[in-house]
Amino acid sequence: DFSADQKRYLEGFVSGVQAVRGSRGAPGFGGGVPFGGQGGEKGLPANAEQVPSGPDAIHLEAMARQEKAGKKLSPQEKAKRDEHPFDAYARLKGLAAEGKFAKQLDDFRIRFHGLFYVGPTQDAYMCRLRIHNGILKSWQFRGVADLAERYGGGFTHVTTRANLQIREIGAADGIAVLEGLVDLGLTARGSGADNIRNVTGTPTAGVDPQELVDTRPYAKEWHHHILNDRSLYGLPRKFNVAFDGAGRIAALEDTNDIGFQAVEVLEGHGVEPGVWWRLALGGITGHRDFARDTGVVVPLDQAIRVADAIVRVFISNGDRTDRNKARLKYVLDAWGFEKFLEEVEKLLGSKLVRAPSDAIAPRPESDRLAHIGIHPQKQEGHNWVGVGLTLGKITCVQMRQLADIAEEFGDRDIRLTVWQNLLISGVRDDYVGEVERRIAGIGLATSASNVRAGLVACTGNKGCKFSAADTKGFADMIASHVDAVGLVVDTPINIHATGCHNSCAQHYIGDIGLIGARVPVGEDDTVDGFNVHVGGGFGTDATIGRELVTEVKGEDCPALVEKMLRGYLAHRADDQETFA
Ligand code: SF4
Repeated sequence: DFSADQKRYLEGFVSGVQAVRGSRGAPGFGGGVPFGGQGGEKGLPANAEQVPSGPDAIHLEAMARQEKAGKKLSPQEKAKRDEHPFDAYARLKGLAAEGKFAKQLDDFRIRFHGLFYVGPTQDAYMCRLRIHNGILKSWQFRGVADLAERYGGGFTHVTTRANLQIREIGAADGIAVLEGLVDLGLTARGSGADNIRNVTGTPTAGVDPQELVDTRPYAKEWHHHILNDRSLYGLPRKFNVAFDGAGRIAALEDTNDIGFQAVEVLEGHGVEPGVWWRLALGGITGHRDFARDTGVVVPLDQAIRVADAIVRVFISNGDRTDRNKARLKYVLDAWGFEKFLEEVEKLLGSKLVRAPSDAIAPRPESDRLAHIGIHPQKQEGHNWVGVGLTLGKITCVQMRQLADIAEEFGDRDIRLTVWQNLLISGVRDDYVGEVERRIAGIGLATSASNVRAGLVACTGNKGCKFSAADTKGFADMIASHVDAVGLVVDTPINIHATGCHNSCAQHYIGDIGLIGARVPVGEDDTVDGFNVHVGGGFGTDATIGRELVTEVKGEDCPALVEKMLRGYLAHRADDQETFA
């Protein structure tokens, strides 16, 4: 006696089986099959009354409903419906064989596979990987270095989703990178376009002395769940999920569409005491919203099931006509939490558990500098070593050397963080000095000024066509200038530089946030510059920064930031007072 919604939900769980039966009419294998299978015009079922079936049904129904209501689907929605990006693989591989890049709607389709054509900034592909919880093995890290050297620019970037990107890939080599990643037990599938992005978690999971939950198995389970269910690709827009285990390094889960926060529920509130996930929804800081507490707590082993249901409600109800309004936040804004959660409960077939906020113990404090330097693990006599990278960039030579260090002195894990750096874990006390020396010897550091430790920048206009400024270049100039003038800031400071309103570097959550702007000079020329925000924060200090000054030339930003920092140091009440 399942309802129609519950049946669709259950179909999702068996969609792998349906895909294998694709030869009998369900969409699936074979090039050029439209999203809607062997149906009629534009992939819709041949008979308009016929209910779409198979793993794409949930998307097709949502598209059809919005068209029936007189709305115009976005070109990207039509592209997905006309030819499912996964079915285009052989054709896109053919383009590579001809030495051609996938452009326009094919660029959109190839992003489902993890490749991005980044012209006109560069006539090249960027490949964004997926690394669940941001943790990979030393041999995988070395293998990525080999791929980046052979097919890319000889370096990688650590991203703000604890992930790696390979850049400067030629047209003929993109597919070789994708297939080379699979050889390494990695993938780039679904890392771009309208898909669920890299699954982040606490970078010190399993070694953190204060964590409530080791997030690794949850991030891994969700990673494989979404990778292996075709109905969970091709959402109305991108979607982010993060697991915070309450460790010492912030996972920024409150900037995600779904943030699972490990919390301790106290006795005496009608909910079984112990560790649960608190459910936060709708984070998208580029649109000035953090994920908000829903009042729901989820048993640890139910996170994947609940996340699956949330995504399906979003797939059915997200806007497919205006891509600026197509994120989960806008469904929540239109419906309110209660209606949204009711829909989730219908799919789950059971009520979610509510816990009042006073039933939740405060989160153990995070440490804004725990991603840099030496920190003791919960395993006695062992440490993680946080390695600073210049705005996430690391050469292939350095990658191999770090892999060597992790193998010789650590537990062979390389842990990427959302702070665009990495940790080597499992280093015994007596090896710490040698590890620091070896890291210094390859041109990297295990210490950084407070300004540099909290410096984050997106790709910027050296590699992203949306950027109004060279974010990484000017962010680096700011930190170098502060160091050069001998200004010492004795509290952690976050400076985030982002190139456009997509806000990959989350400028609204920085103590100082910069967003790229073209600054007019003379009659009809412009130069790189920024609008400057101040007073953002995250976690327990979550605040959206406010605009302070606009159209500052990039070259003037170092002096401006110096002035702001000096003003802060001179006028703060004490070193606990933040920019907010
Ligand atoms: Fe590109 Fe904008 Fe993202 Fe920066 S914030 S990487 S400019 S899309």
